[in-house]
Amino acid sequence: MSLAKVVYLGPLEGFKEAVAAGDGVVVIEHVATEQEAVARALMGADALLDASMRVKITPDMLMHAPRLRMISCATTGSDHIACDEAERRGIEVRTLKEDGALLQGLTPAAELSWTLLMACARRIVPAVAHVRQGGWVREEFPGLMLRGRTLGLIGCGRIGQWMARYASAFEMKVIGYDPYIDPWPSGIERLPLDDLVERADVVSVHVPLNEQTRGLLSAALFARMRPAAIVINTSRGAVADETALLRALESGRISAAGLDVLDGEPDIESHPLLAYARGHDNLLITPHCGGYSPDAVRVVCRRAAEKIIDRLRENL
Ligand code: NAD
Repeated sequence: MSLAKVVYLGPLEGFKEAVAAGDGVVVIEHVATEQEAVARALMGADALLDASMRVKITPDMLMHAPRLRMISCATTGSDHIACDEAERRGIEVRTLKEDGALLQGLTPAAELSWTLLMACARRIVPAVAHVRQGGWVREEFPGLMLRGRTLGLIGCGRIGQWMARYASAFEMKVIGYDPYIDPWPSGIERLPLDDLVERADVVSVHVPLNEQTRGLLSAALFARMRPAAIVINTSRGAVADETALLRALESGRISAAGLDVLDGEPDIESHPLLAYARGHDNLLITPHCGGYSPDAVRVVCRRAAEKIIDRLRENL
């Protein structure tokens, strides 16, 4: 009897981990994250292990994948998958949303959020550029002392709570707004959103993107922020009104921003925030790399692979 075939999309370290988890029970094929290559590979596949999210899994692809029984995402998101069509065809779609305890221990996105905060507070990027150009004038780089300052968290889930822990190690005060979390996490003072932005020296956003959170960081909120506020957004670009964010930076309404996300990414070439960042050192943008760490990829790919192996074993 031929072995079941699993298509893998994602980085090499995750593939190796999936192969190890597969333990010879399945054949795992590493497929390039290109629409046509994936469509072709799925035609003969029993399962898809998706650690990439770069390829849209369309209804048409699923229609031409008669053997496909499961899609296991090594991510929390599944927006790129035609889930309704998958359900109609009896294809189970699993994500890491069901693996709360495992996710809780994965810190790269929180660590990158904290890195952006520190980089903005100490103006690390222009300071390094200054020295590379032969400069040595420390007066050009006054640092914000974090101790005693206030971190305002919008969204107090996994990443928000890690940020709160890091902040407490720096002896910052931590305030938070999150209408849904229950129980309320310790060490964070609960506040209405308007009060939070008025009091925070750093506003850091850690909410999912949905119809409620789209544009949550609005012009009205920027208008209430402290003049020297720093804004961090590593959640999704559209959680901020990006035009209002740009205006707040241009006008000096806020002092700096650190972003790991832009609306419309990865097509960012004509994004107005990128144009601003090219000419100003108070806006730092990283390429949505927060959650990407080979250490974390190995953990999530092993878990996603185990779900597939368990499912396929049921049918052996
Ligand atoms: P989480 O689900 O643990 O926490 C999200 C929190 O947001 C929850 O506590 C929820 O109650 C709260 N929330 C929901 N709607 C809200 C609203 N309208 N106002 C205030 N709070 C609200 O998620 P997480 O793991 O902390 O991740 C947060 C977000 O970060 C993710 O949704 C994702 O968009 C983003 N993320 C980015 C990266 C990256 O690489 N940059 C990596 C992982 C996650």
